Amino acid sequence: MSATEEFLEANQRYAETFSKGDKPMPPAKRVAVVACMDARIETGRLLGLEEGDAHVIRNAGGVVTDDVIRSLAISQRLLGTREIVLIHHTDCGMLTFKDEALKSEVEKDTGLRPPFAFEAFADVEDDVRQSIRRVRASPFVVHKDSIRGFVYEVETGRLREIDA
Ligand code: ZN
Repeated sequence: MSATEEFLEANQRYAETFSKGDKPMPPAKRVAVVACMDARIETGRLLGLEEGDAHVIRNAGGVVTDDVIRSLAISQRLLGTREIVLIHHTDCGMLTFKDEALKSEVEKDTGLRPPFAFEAFADVEDDVRQSIRRVRASPFVVHKDSIRGFVYEVETGRLREIDA
């Protein structure tokens, strides 16, 4: 059975006892979380979130890209979030390659050089600081009173705050 088929079975069981269909669209905790897509990070459980609590925006690295800014702008402007939490983590895949080398590999395989940056980084704490700076520098993110960055330790389950 494929993973997708397993998901459909799991979802049937989930829906049988589902009782949270009356939540409003704006996040109750008025927070947006930006996190890496790493499979070991269960943002809901590690932050104690429930349905309706927070926006969670994820990509490879938890990098603050233009598209993350797009989501943050919508999150703040239309859905009332006021805090931003950035989460990178130990043992991130983004630490294992270099942009230029991966671009060259992709170009060799496909004949096309990706026009986008993969945004690999060499130091996870430095990249948290870079992410905080990018959010602060964006004119489209208006509410900047609470922008905090963390490294999640996949080994311990703990969040460690990084000083901007
Ligand atoms: Zn990662």
